[in-house]
Amino acid sequence: MKKKIKTLGILYRISKYGDTSLILKTFTRDEGLISILAKGARSSSTQTAFQTLGIYELVLYKPLETGLYLLSESTLLLVYDFSQNTGLWCLAQCGCELISQILISGDEYLQYYDLQKLYLDYLNEHHEAGIYIFWRFWLRVMELLGLSYDLSNCHRCSKPLGNAAFVEKGTGALICIECAQQSHYPEHVSALSVRSIKIISKLPVIGNYVQSLSIDFTSIVQINQIIRDFFETHLHKPLHLKSLIIYEQLFSNGT
Ligand SMILES: [Zn+2]
Repeated sequence: MKKKIKTLGILYRISKYGDTSLILKTFTRDEGLISILAKGARSSSTQTAFQTLGIYELVLYKPLETGLYLLSESTLLLVYDFSQNTGLWCLAQCGCELISQILISGDEYLQYYDLQKLYLDYLNEHHEAGIYIFWRFWLRVMELLGLSYDLSNCHRCSKPLGNAAFVEKGTGALICIECAQQSHYPEHVSALSVRSIKIISKLPVIGNYVQSLSIDFTSIVQINQIIRDFFETHLHKPLHLKSLIIYEQLFSNGT
């Protein structure tokens, strides 16, 4: 007989399964990222409407080996409703997409669960800080993975970066102006905007600076490229954040 377990989960995505059932892709506190079969959840007799970005208390039957978990009971505890703000909705999805692309071991599920919950709380409470909060979330995820992204010193000579900094294309590493000028492959380095440097240097404590910082499309594109390149270099696979591309498009259209 399958084992019955109780856990908390953040619902990432809902998809139809057969005529009456649903598959719930959920990041749970105790089992990590799993797919749950909710049998009959679409039949007219069931009033349960699942909501993405809802926090659920779940009672599940765990599969004996790999495969789908089976839903026994669910209680919606809280839902993050970003339906009025497409940008924030995209950023919340970016968080889910980032976590979905990381291999997380069993003893770390709780840490990642708490971090995501905190991320959604911040997004919900500080609408104006959206993209900054996502970048800080990315930084914290990297730290949980044991990867530290050096925000203030040159990757090559370790000197403090100062007000002018460059980025190494492909790795996302920051380098100082002297190292950039001495680079044998100038085409592999590109200058960061003053705005991008300011934002990057403040990322760990960005919450204190939201009011004094301003954002533009160039900084968004530059910093997003850095996070992709850094991820790819250290995790040896590309980081596909579909929602981040949509976010960039929304921003460039002024919405
Ligand atoms: Zn240097």
